[in-house]
Amino acid sequence: MKIKIISDKCIACGLCHLQAPEVFDYYDNGIVKFYDTETSIQNFPDSSTLQAAVKTCPTGALKIEKGQ
Ligand code: SF4
Repeated sequence: MKIKIISDKCIACGLCHLQAPEVFDYYDNGIVKFYDTETSIQNFPDSSTLQAAVKTCPTGALKIEKGQ
C-alpha cells in the first residue's frame, strides 16, 4: 500500500503516531513525516494498523493511494 502525506493539511495532533509509531514521525514543529525519509509518498506492506492510522487522521492529511 502506498501512503501519501499532505503536510499542508496536518494539524500536528499526533494521532497517527500513536497508531503507527514505526511509520509516522514528526518534524520539530509537530508536522508529520515518515519515520526514515522526507519523501511525501512511501510504499508499505499492506497493514490494517496502517489503514487505521490513515483513517484516524482528522484532517485528511494522510491518504492511501489507490491502484498500486
Ligand atoms: S493524524 Fe493527521 S493531522 Fe494528526 S499528526 Fe497525523 S497527519 Fe497530522
